[in-house]
Amino acid sequence: MPTNVGGFETLQGPPAWSDLHEVVAPRRSLLLNASREPLCVVSLHRAIALVLGGKAVVLESDGRVLRSQSLTVLVPQVLCLTRYVHVPFRRVVPPTRRTVLQRDSHRCGYCAGPAETVDHIHPRSRGGVHEWTNVVAACSRCNHHKADRLLSEIGWQLLITPVVPRGSAALLVAATRPHPSWHAYLAA
Ligand SMILES: [Zn+2]
Repeated sequence: MPTNVGGFETLQGPPAWSDLHEVVAPRRSLLLNASREPLCVVSLHRAIALVLGGKAVVLESDGRVLRSQSLTVLVPQVLCLTRYVHVPFRRVVPPTRRTVLQRDSHRCGYCAGPAETVDHIHPRSRGGVHEWTNVVAACSRCNHHKADRLLSEIGWQLLITPVVPRGSAALLVAATRPHPSWHAYLAA
């Protein structure tokens, strides 16, 4: 008996929708504004609802389809709103170990080696605040060596300028594992 979710069945019968959803279909889709600017990440169900409601069109798909008796829908990886929506503000993603490492591409801001920790450039013990511009990805060796000293005290310089991720970058940082099909849109 075919699994049926929201009136849609998988084209090929088994695997059932629930299996397809878990195993091969993206669980999330990247939603772009009508201007093609990335807006947010939505669940697959939400994405399909937007497409069925005529509010969005599919831009990227791996070719898999869901169908009902009267409709066929590509499983969306990237979709785009048909009408522009005004976004009054952008949510700023908080700096965490994961988001800082992702912003800095897992490279140590002091030696460019592989980083697995986050360092407060101006140490918190000396009044440094926990904000994007005061944190940098660091390898354990550099982090341990720097400890609670200022860069000026040990003659070090940062290899990068820590910035607050905005727009597409913030979205990329917010998405735990961006789907490969999203990269072209996030890099814009
Ligand atoms: Zn280092």
